[in-house]
Amino acid sequence: MSEAQTVPCEVSKKKVIGLLPCSGACNVGMMTTRCVIDMIDTYDNINFVCALGLPLGIPNIINNAKKSEYHIALNGCEVECATKALKSANIEADTVIVVTKDFEIKKNKQFRSLEGQKELEDRVEQIINQIL
Ligand code: SF4
Repeated sequence: MSEAQTVPCEVSKKKVIGLLPCSGACNVGMMTTRCVIDMIDTYDNINFVCALGLPLGIPNIINNAKKSEYHIALNGCEVECATKALKSANIEADTVIVVTKDFEIKKNKQFRSLEGQKELEDRVEQIINQIL
């Protein structure tokens, strides 16, 4: 008789977290995209949501966004395009981040600037870890 034991499959209870970068054409917009890529490398429950597809009404992108159980809008500046993009698909952001306001970073055209990147990522990681 086999002594092998049945080990139940471990079901992941992690919430799917939708990260929505504004991806604006400026330093703070680029920061939001880099932040999402770095979070994907670190966590396995991140859903990268394409902000532009939501107001354009692209069904697959809207359906993908709605799979997330928690939404974080990552806005470069106070225009809050990521927050508005979510609203256009009738989704309220659970957390709204505005880089220029929250981290006092001036918006400019230095696309590769990393000023404030670490602070942004630390903040997003803090939120992700609170949700897990
Ligand atoms: S939130 Fe600001 S930085 Fe981001 S896309 Fe909109 S205007 Fe550009």
